[in-house]
Amino acid sequence: MWAIISRLKALGGRLIRSVQLRYAAAYLLVTGMVLILLNVYPLRFAQDLVFRTKEVSVLGKAEMVASAMAGLDRLTADGVRQVVDLLNDVSFSRMIVTDETGECLYDSAYVSGTEGRYVLYPEIAAALEGNDVFYCRSGAASIESCAALPVIYRGMVIGCVYAIETDTEQAALLVGIQRNMRNITWLILLAVTAVCLVSVCLFSRRMDRIMNAIRIVREGEYSYKLESSSRDELGELAKEFNALTERIQTTETMRRQFVSDASHELKTPLAAITLMTDSVLQNEMDKQTILEFVGDIGAEANRLSRMTEKLLQLSRLESAPATALETVDLAKIVDKVFRILWPLANERGICLSSHMEEKCTVLAREDDIYQILFNIAENGVKYNRDNGTLEILLYHRDSSVVLICNDDGVGIPEEEMPRIFERFYRVDKARSREAGGSGIGLAIVHDMVEKYHGAITVAARKSGGTRFTITFPWHERGVEQ
Ligand code: ADP
Repeated sequence: MWAIISRLKALGGRLIRSVQLRYAAAYLLVTGMVLILLNVYPLRFAQDLVFRTKEVSVLGKAEMVASAMAGLDRLTADGVRQVVDLLNDVSFSRMIVTDETGECLYDSAYVSGTEGRYVLYPEIAAALEGNDVFYCRSGAASIESCAALPVIYRGMVIGCVYAIETDTEQAALLVGIQRNMRNITWLILLAVTAVCLVSVCLFSRRMDRIMNAIRIVREGEYSYKLESSSRDELGELAKEFNALTERIQTTETMRRQFVSDASHELKTPLAAITLMTDSVLQNEMDKQTILEFVGDIGAEANRLSRMTEKLLQLSRLESAPATALETVDLAKIVDKVFRILWPLANERGICLSSHMEEKCTVLAREDDIYQILFNIAENGVKYNRDNGTLEILLYHRDSSVVLICNDDGVGIPEEEMPRIFERFYRVDKARSREAGGSGIGLAIVHDMVEKYHGAITVAARKSGGTRFTITFPWHERGVEQ
């Protein structure tokens, strides 16, 4: 019992807090007010119409009787009766004619025995003072119209005509209209309440499902999907929710993959360092061999630090706050990169050359553009053959700036090309390791190029070697965005 009460309480509390319920209550309130107005105004209008008709007809007939009575210079019971007989067509529910003192000369309801007695109703008293009196009132089963008019002869009040008409037909009509309106009102109210309740319940159920889904996803169940067959706002919300969870799921998978790849990649040089350190410690070696081992340990440590540096770059790229962009001249950056790479290229007899148009400018951060061009050009040197060439072409095409990096090195097999922008992906692991690679450089390039709304493609050259093509939107210096 208590459980049911507390559940009902909880449901009540939820319903009170529900937005939908508030809308439903407002809707009901407005409907109720409209219905009240509909019940009151037309009825009042109909009643006024009936009263006005009564005024015209009852007062008109009473005036006719009063002017007929005014034809008699003195009102007597016989004279009045004769006039009443003459006015056969003019009838009331009750008619009283009095003389100027208020003594009753004629009463159509003579059973009441008023004739010969003074009937000083307030209406008659007012009429004897020379006033026209008329009122109409609506009772439970009838409409009562009352008129009292003075009978005036030569400017003197010589009597009064008091007429009452009771109309049950019109009253029944008004009551009928009122009853029908009330019934219709109840029906409409019931229907609106039912529709509101049903829609509140349906809405709450669907909202509950969405809230439940949010809780499930919050707990980490990213694959949870909501059914979204309907096309209304909640259906759209469910679709957006599913799209969001899909995105979270993809990001989460990528994150897990990245963490596992990164730890795997970091483990390899660490394992090599541990192995080599153990060998030095556990075996007796001559100085030369120890020096070789220490050199290898140093090389692995360098690889580790390069890798962590690139990993940091990658995470900075993902979480970097938006900083102010500037107009960057790509030609200047290419020159800077060539200056840095020259010793490495020179060591292997690799020729660095460039053909660049002027004013190839883009809107970006200079450090990012340097990083992109350095990684591409460094790969062109690292994976080149001895005495090979590395050529950079830079030109405008339509509203873009195109940078091509041609090398005639080892090349990349066609089937590997789609994967080389993935993190830690290396075509030839041994060669990459030997060249000091980490498999992250091109992933950084790809993300950065996309950040500046550019595109990067890779292709094999007919003469051997690889061609990277990067396209950026051209941004003229001085043209503000
Ligand atoms: P790494 O640090 O290993 O160079 P990258 O992400 O820069 O990592 O490159 C990914 C892989 O793509 C490299 O390991 C290499 O196998 C291949 N690669 C990149 N650039 C070239 C190139 N110019 N010529 C041949 N292979 C390349």
